[in-house]
Amino acid sequence: MAQEQLYGFDTLKVRAGYKPEEHNRAVSVPIYQTASYELGDTDRMSRLFTFAEPGFLYTRIGNPTVAVLEERLAALDGAAAAVAVASGMAAISYTLLNVTEGGGRILTTPQLYGGTFDSFKKIYPKFGIGIDQVEKPDDPEEFRRAIKPDTKAIYVESISNPNAIVADIEKLAQIAHENDIPLIVDNTVATPYLLNPIQYGADIVVYSATKALSGHGNVIAGVILESGRFKWDNGKFPHFLEPYHTLRDATGSPRNFLQVFPDAPFTFRVRLNYLNYFGAALSPFDAYLVLLGLETLSERMQKQVANTDKILRYLEEKSVVSWVRHPRAKNSPSRALAEKYLPRGAGGLFTFGVKGTDEQISAFIDSLNLFSYQANLGDARSLIINSPKTTHGELTAEEQRLAGITPETVRVSIGLETPEDLIADLEQAFNKVFA
Ligand SMILES: *Cc1c(COP(=O)(O)O)cnc(C)c1O
Repeated sequence: MAQEQLYGFDTLKVRAGYKPEEHNRAVSVPIYQTASYELGDTDRMSRLFTFAEPGFLYTRIGNPTVAVLEERLAALDGAAAAVAVASGMAAISYTLLNVTEGGGRILTTPQLYGGTFDSFKKIYPKFGIGIDQVEKPDDPEEFRRAIKPDTKAIYVESISNPNAIVADIEKLAQIAHENDIPLIVDNTVATPYLLNPIQYGADIVVYSATKALSGHGNVIAGVILESGRFKWDNGKFPHFLEPYHTLRDATGSPRNFLQVFPDAPFTFRVRLNYLNYFGAALSPFDAYLVLLGLETLSERMQKQVANTDKILRYLEEKSVVSWVRHPRAKNSPSRALAEKYLPRGAGGLFTFGVKGTDEQISAFIDSLNLFSYQANLGDARSLIINSPKTTHGELTAEEQRLAGITPETVRVSIGLETPEDLIADLEQAFNKVFA
């Protein structure tokens, strides 16, 4: 990877992690559609199974196509290593289980993707993992005050779904590290093109690659990356020091993950425990689709940022729109943080409030011809959804209030269309319902 540090982001996104000379000089990354791999001879088998020699055994824990994606994203994020999984939710749950194994608490906010919020409420407590949510995530000091002796991590979204609130990653990393716990950042909405959380001190970064990373609404995928800098032997994470027979040395003595994988113990532990035994492996074909999408990540994000600016200006002038939430919207509380963390733009996801009844909001959505009504984001196409009834419909009214998802909230994800067409579509739908 040292060589690759010399290249810029746009070079890395089309080339990192792939050497054609190792793949019959194929220009496009080949899809290794195989479940398993020849072990060669029994000596090689023993070296592979004791990790003395790197190599592929079985596609659930590693595949050459998936490995190119992992290396490419590690290069784009400045990470020590990555592990790809079958969805963003698998990335989040494997990460949080790997941190809190044996019990503990996760400190987070109500500004979260709906699925994450729901899983925090419905599943983690049943596994003995407590969830604490600060009420005012804008103030990093709230996090410091809320840390308990058994808090094992701070978890935030760099740009939150759906309201596009920007996290103060550098301050949160500092607070986490003063308490010997990692900062975990869901960077799905920003993508590494707009923001690099590791550069600001994040220890673990997770993605739903389903969204803007792949960008074409045709695949479900997730990724976990680690900085390689966090000290897992600080006393709070004894499970990283557990010796395993599978990690034994040449004499047969068991070793732990820190001994065998000192540069990337977190992702190897996810791979060999969670991915291996819980099994949400990414298929080689799906890894290929994400690689293909990544090739145009910068170009897509630039266009979405430019389109979004035009649509924000249009909506801010509409009398039927009560507010617009995006870091670059007028009077956004995230503006200063966006200037620091998001110099290339704050992405294409945002919400706005419609002054109207539930029926009028439904009629407005039903009147749109171009915007797709669906629960994805970061797609090449522009999408719209009434979050309080769908993506965040599992939240109670009080939880929706804390998360800032009031009943009049509409979420959009701006795509790559001609911006004037998108504005014309919104205009005709507003006119139809509110004339
Ligand atoms: C969609 C999303 C997820 C979940 O990802 P899947 O790939 O759908 O499992 C997690 N976090 C954020 C911010 C998301 O938008």
